[in-house]
Amino acid sequence: MKNKAVFIDRDGTINVDVHYLDDPNKFEMYPGVGEGLKKLKENRFKIIVITNQSGIARGYFTEQQLFDIHERMKKEFQRFNVALDGIYYCPHHPDDNCNCRKPNTALFKKAINEHNIDVKKSYTVGDKILDIGAGKKIGTGTILIPEPHIKEEILSKQIEWEYNPDYVADDFIDAIEWILKLERG
Ligand SMILES: [Mg+2]
Ligand SMILES: [Zn+2]
Repeated sequence: MKNKAVFIDRDGTINVDVHYLDDPNKFEMYPGVGEGLKKLKENRFKIIVITNQSGIARGYFTEQQLFDIHERMKKEFQRFNVALDGIYYCPHHPDDNCNCRKPNTALFKKAINEHNIDVKKSYTVGDKILDIGAGKKIGTGTILIPEPHIKEEILSKQIEWEYNPDYVADDFIDAIEWILKLERG
């Protein structure tokens, strides 16, 4: 039996995007994320974080700093009794043309193999169209959650979106409710 998963972006989706977050103490989780992840777990979804971290290639922070931030994130999740199933990150610069930086899908493929995931029963959630692009290419359902302070700007440019999400959510809980409603059929 294959597993179902939700592939979740980090910055701007789980936590406020401060651009090149380099310090665990600046990790600020969005409201509803802990509760939403708990609901996913209760419905037997694997929770996989997939994140572009070009700050490493740019020399803005080290992999050790990234690990410290992820430890902090896991602690925040533990307060809701949520255990992460995996974190995959791309450390490269956009100019490196790697195959793992979203909207490319190498990290998704790795996660799908390592966790025996059925993409057709899975979802990708993120705050940017590049997250949606990766999810579309790999064949999951896709949900965009624009960050509140730039939501209007993002929605006003909908005509330019390179990929169209299956759903645009108001916030994290709305995204999770949408997934669970589809689950119930
Ligand atoms: Mg993001
Ligand atoms: Zn990469």
